[in-house]
Amino acid sequence: MFATDLNRMDEKIKAFSKFGELDGGGITRLSLSAPALAARAEFKRRAEALGMTVESDDIGNIYATYPGTEEGLPRIIMGSHMDSVRSGGNYDGIYGVLSSLEAAETVIKEGIKLRHPITVMVWTNEEGARFEPAMMSSGIVMKKWTKESMLAVSETGGKVTFGEALEASGWVGDESNRLNDRDYCAYFEPHIEQGPVLEEEGLDIGVVAGVVGMVNYDIILEGVSSHAGTTPQSYRKDALRAASKVILDLWDSLGAIADDLVFTTGEITCRPNIHTVVPNYVKFSLDARHRDMGVIAEVVDVIKSLPSEVYGCKLSYEEHWGRNTIEFDDRLLDHVEGAAKGLGYSYKRMYSGAGHDAQYVSELLPSVMIFIPSVGGLSHTVVEYSTPEQCHHGANVLLNALIEADKSF
Ligand SMILES: [Zn+2]
Repeated sequence: MFATDLNRMDEKIKAFSKFGELDGGGITRLSLSAPALAARAEFKRRAEALGMTVESDDIGNIYATYPGTEEGLPRIIMGSHMDSVRSGGNYDGIYGVLSSLEAAETVIKEGIKLRHPITVMVWTNEEGARFEPAMMSSGIVMKKWTKESMLAVSETGGKVTFGEALEASGWVGDESNRLNDRDYCAYFEPHIEQGPVLEEEGLDIGVVAGVVGMVNYDIILEGVSSHAGTTPQSYRKDALRAASKVILDLWDSLGAIADDLVFTTGEITCRPNIHTVVPNYVKFSLDARHRDMGVIAEVVDVIKSLPSEVYGCKLSYEEHWGRNTIEFDDRLLDHVEGAAKGLGYSYKRMYSGAGHDAQYVSELLPSVMIFIPSVGGLSHTVVEYSTPEQCHHGANVLLNALIEADKSF
């Protein structure tokens, strides 16, 4: 088995933690912001120092490539994103980029002969924290939405559009450089787990078999506004009271469907939202995720069988969006699992509960993800952490899986 360098991996994490660093730890490195551009420049500098050729496509995605030994073979690509959420951590996304760079550095410096060229990739605007939606660029590449509509998106809380920020970044390259299935043959995305499972189960590596399917509904309760002082309780049609009952009832009925179903009400709108007025309107979100789409169908059945009236308030619902479960590539899964096993790491096959660029790429190329544990299961927070050893383990699994993929593709 081959190994990357623990200290070199750790140095990369520490070096990139400076771009957008916050007092007291963590980063804010919104897509195409000044700290994000500084991180891109440093990535380019390091890749070129290794003898890699750095290109970008028309939406600023970066591709750093090192040639293989056999002429004409497609590239094997690995990477993730470098942008963060507001007050995010030093691992989400950037770990995937830097472990890929570390694997490439090991290949280059150790003189490991690979038939295929290898490319380390950086996706533009994965988080969607500055420009919505999340996974914007992989969505453009995979035609989930048009480039034109995305260029027109204004930053959250500001005036600059994605198109303007992209143009000003200096990273606009040629559309022909976009990830495609002629020039590329396989995609790896290492990532922190962002959940507690690996740590709780004492495992080193998650061999990610796919991304769970999900549905997202809005549920709406409509009552009647009236005076908080003059309306006796028995006369009220209080939309918030009705919504509270529905949320608690859903907790019970959805909880009974499957142990590993996850569901969340994370967003709520209450009108008129005045402390002296009985609410007449409440809308709340319901997000439910499971790898088995049959379970998701049961969730939808529960929503569709909700009563049309609760405490005198009218109930309605609408599907916001959903996605089917994504299954990653069997051959790449075997390579990742074989690498973990060969290195003597404990591991399990698991599904990602969060969305990643890999889920879109998997429609284009054989794809797989590698998870390392998140300490405390925490992510999208300044205390997000994985130990230097955990980061090193993931890079080692990537390196060895890459070497196997080089033989099998
Ligand atoms: Zn991420």
